[in-house]
Amino acid sequence: MSDHDHETVPAVVDHEDEIPEDHPRYQDLLTRHRIEAGVEKGITHLQGMHAEGRGSAFDYLLGEETIPSADEAERAAAAQLLLADHPVLSVNGNVAALVPGEIVDLAAAVDADIEVNLFNRTPERLEAIADHLREHGAEEVRGLEADARIPGLEHERAKVDAAGIYEADVVLVPLEDGDRAQALSAMGKTEIVIDLNPLSRSPRAADVPIVDNVIRAVPNVTAHARELADADEAELRGILEGFDREAALEDAEERIRTGDR
Ligand code: ATP
Repeated sequence: MSDHDHETVPAVVDHEDEIPEDHPRYQDLLTRHRIEAGVEKGITHLQGMHAEGRGSAFDYLLGEETIPSADEAERAAAAQLLLADHPVLSVNGNVAALVPGEIVDLAAAVDADIEVNLFNRTPERLEAIADHLREHGAEEVRGLEADARIPGLEHERAKVDAAGIYEADVVLVPLEDGDRAQALSAMGKTEIVIDLNPLSRSPRAADVPIVDNVIRAVPNVTAHARELADADEAELRGILEGFDREAALEDAEERIRTGDR
């Protein structure tokens, strides 16, 4: 199909159903629309639009698909979450706008807590995001207590729940900023990061870096977790031992730089 062989997109998209699924840039248009809607709903900060723009450029270079090394990382992430005693999924404004229902599904599949964790933290945004997650089926949303601090970060960005991220052994942090990813790693957390830029500090700080779009990555981690639901501990540990974080980062960088598959 040529690029011109699809329905055109209306100039103003009020609802995502108006974006034709056969459009060659469907995923990108959907992502942009969800971020815009997130800003309008008060759950996404304007800076989230810039972050999305950066991500979208990397995704274009990756071919807007889950590359095999990312799929392996997503399987390793599922194994890591299933092995955890207390896994927590950290949600910021972009994640809430892009994959609210998918985060709720993943939390159910691996029995994880969901915690809102914002770079630009205001009570209004926290509440709006918690409400949005509840509308998508979340029962308990952490992050509102903010009764503990991540050491080494300035006040607002350090806030977490004592019974949530502070206590967690494994944290999934999609689209996390580099400082916080490094600070969580310094706390000894096992960290899973989803980020389309393999050169960014966050995936480089991660035990399991996933270089993929969050809208593909989260449902794929859930699919792996469901498939591994009956796996024993030895099998899950074997998946983790077979995963090479350096190779995953290098593979994604190579794909972005050369386009080679
Ligand atoms: P650092 O981690 O070094 O601080 P940064 O300043 O570029 O890097 P942020 O602005 O905090 O990072 O976060 C934006 C990051 O999120 C970018 O690396 C971008 O590639 C990534 N990103 C944006 N949208 C998506 C998405 N939909 N899926 C996955 N990653 C995304």
